[in-house]
Amino acid sequence: MTRKTGYVWHEKYAWHDTGTHAGLVPSGGYVQPYRNFESPDSKARLAGLVEVSGLLEQLVRIPAVEASDADLLRVHTSGHVERIRSQSLAGGGDAGDGFSPFGASGFEVGKLAAGGTLAAARAVLDGTVDNAYALVRPPGHHAEPDQGRGYCLFANVPVAIEALRAEGRLSRVAIFDYDVHHGNGAQKIYWDDPDVLTISVHQDGLFPVDTGQVSEQGAGAGAGTNINVPLPAGSGDGAYWSAVERVAGPAIRAFAPDLIIVSSGFDPSAFDPLGRMSVTSNGFRGIAERLLDIADDACDGRIVFSHEGGYSAVHVPFCGVAVLEVLSGITTDVEDPFQISIGASPTRTLTAWQTDVIDRSAALARALGMIVTE
Ligand SMILES: [Zn+2]
Repeated sequence: MTRKTGYVWHEKYAWHDTGTHAGLVPSGGYVQPYRNFESPDSKARLAGLVEVSGLLEQLVRIPAVEASDADLLRVHTSGHVERIRSQSLAGGGDAGDGFSPFGASGFEVGKLAAGGTLAAARAVLDGTVDNAYALVRPPGHHAEPDQGRGYCLFANVPVAIEALRAEGRLSRVAIFDYDVHHGNGAQKIYWDDPDVLTISVHQDGLFPVDTGQVSEQGAGAGAGTNINVPLPAGSGDGAYWSAVERVAGPAIRAFAPDLIIVSSGFDPSAFDPLGRMSVTSNGFRGIAERLLDIADDACDGRIVFSHEGGYSAVHVPFCGVAVLEVLSGITTDVEDPFQISIGASPTRTLTAWQTDVIDRSAALARALGMIVTE
């Protein structure tokens, strides 16, 4: 079955300037200037493969528009927004943690990333497309109300959600985050909000090091609506598929959202320089297939992917095209050549020590079902 899939990409996303950090750390002293891991490469090359594969002409192009100041201020403090604006005007700066540099157009590109996610979600709610993928940059899932973190300037997904809630277009939302890093931004923003379910599957103790544990479950009216699945390093396709089947599926079906938004990071890839997981492009394909099934059951198939991390310039394009093939139901001629290297790795299969963690998070998903049906 083919579906009408919306697609957001703007060349300016590739022009976001992350300077001369050596991968992760600022250059200086004995650290020779190099390139940031968060460079345009993986995203621009994914956009390139979307075009060369022939997918582009079969997707519905959704123009990216900048989020407004009012959109940003529903989620962020005015202090944070003004700091990004003024640094940007001054030629560049850092979003807040010393590891998130941006150049002269940082403020505009940041607004374009949040606005691109909003445009994709709006198109799905309008029914002009069945689902959508917003290939945006910079990412957003580490940004908090009062600061940027981890390469993120603004919280793209919450900015989109809050704009649509303000319009009365949206009430209940589920966020599912499979980026290798913890989705700390959404967790913090929606900690006590009972109408936004936040689920993050990530590498245990990676970044941020102090958040992402199973015990963090939300508070107040939002108690029980935050679920973390901190998988051990080395986890692959089987662990991720199990986490989607046993945690995201029951939780989202019980929660009955109007829309699912996926924070789509390809840094669980076996080739990622920052993550230590071993997911293949077929693994990401399987995650997307399962998420589409959940969306069909929970909210008439309404699902939007917003691009987050993923730093293997050579592997991310194949992972992204696999996901877009699932969303659209279109099969291209693209075959992932990296399967030769990792396609038969034993890390693909689920292990007992990964199941231990998933069991604990699955119990929270079951509890959520009981809360909702009471
Ligand atoms: Zn990440």
